[in-house]
Amino acid sequence: MPEAKLRWIEDELAALKEQSLFINLRTIESPAGAWMVVDGKRVLNLCTNNYLGLANDPRLVQAAKAALDCFGAGPTAVRTIAGTLSLHRELEQAMAEFKNVEDALYVQAGFLANQAALAPLVGPEDVIFSDRLNHASIIDGARLSRAKIIVYEHNDPADLEAKIKEHLPQYRRGLMVTDGVFSMDGDLAPLDQLYEVCERYAVLTMVDDAHGEGVVGRGGRGIVDHFGLHGKFDVEIGTFSKAFGVVGGIIAGKKLIVDYIRQKARPFLFSSAVTPADTAACLAAVHALSESTELVDRLWQNTRYFKGEMKALGFDTGQSVTPITPVMLGDVKLAKEFSRQLFERGVFAMALGFPTVPKGLARIRVMVSAALTREDLDFGLEQFKAVGRGLGVVG
Ligand SMILES: *Cc1c(COP(=O)(O)O)cnc(C)c1O
Repeated sequence: MPEAKLRWIEDELAALKEQSLFINLRTIESPAGAWMVVDGKRVLNLCTNNYLGLANDPRLVQAAKAALDCFGAGPTAVRTIAGTLSLHRELEQAMAEFKNVEDALYVQAGFLANQAALAPLVGPEDVIFSDRLNHASIIDGARLSRAKIIVYEHNDPADLEAKIKEHLPQYRRGLMVTDGVFSMDGDLAPLDQLYEVCERYAVLTMVDDAHGEGVVGRGGRGIVDHFGLHGKFDVEIGTFSKAFGVVGGIIAGKKLIVDYIRQKARPFLFSSAVTPADTAACLAAVHALSESTELVDRLWQNTRYFKGEMKALGFDTGQSVTPITPVMLGDVKLAKEFSRQLFERGVFAMALGFPTVPKGLARIRVMVSAALTREDLDFGLEQFKAVGRGLGVVG
């Protein structure tokens, strides 16, 4: 028995298990390639955010090794004291060029990038207009800014406008923030329409393109590129942990804004810089994407094929227009059982339930990757068909 003051934690954990919401960690023992070793078993990887197969690309691994030899293991300082390496600046410039923005700031994670960007731009006298389905890191960043948070309906420019009209007059300034690609459903924010509304009321605009960078837009240049809104959006948040295959966050946009965030952002001022090896690997990823669209093209070919076949099998893949492919199952117990049976058959695809997705909308989320061959995809489809029929999900 735990101490009396800790017993409530036992009760909470028991409740999670009761509701099938307890998270069991699977352990990975290989690179996140098309196939990986998970809990000792070789399985098809339909589960990581390694959209382009860059995570174990030899060019990235080589760049990381060279940076270790040249700069050592860690920077041992925050960026603003003695932690800014030439590599960090090179990466920021390469990323600004790739995304066609004036400047960019590299931080430790996409999660932190939202905290870093929001608090300097809005405070207690201001209002944030936030999409109902925005990522947790936006929600937390918004809370830390202490601005008033007004939620508008998902991907609904008319509701955004109504909320702006109603609330903006009570505040000093407003900021609209949205995911670019929504990570659980794979749908796109109507960025052009949201921008138009915000322009009309001089509301600042910010988009978190974590699942769009390296995926949508020309050669993976992101959602702002997809909508042709260059120079219009004030701030673009991104991550190097998904399509780019490494780690770290990026704040990109107008130079004036990036300059200001560099002075004010607490995760940038008070937490150490990203390691040389990670930074060099990110730089190699940006170079790889700047040089060729081959990986992005293959990602989309694979996506079209996989989704088409899943629909033909009778699965509900929701609203997705990106490689994120939710397989809607509804009940979290069913989703977990589906995932377990897939795993037994050699397919790694995780079930997602509350709080990652709303209650009653549990699903398996398949992440299509350029690393997968046609044979791999066919193997995955075969197992989905077998498990889906066995559990009565499809006929
Ligand atoms: C994954 C994700 C993040 C977090 O990025 P990390 O680099 O993994 O911290 C932030 N925002 C969105 C929309 C994401 O999907």
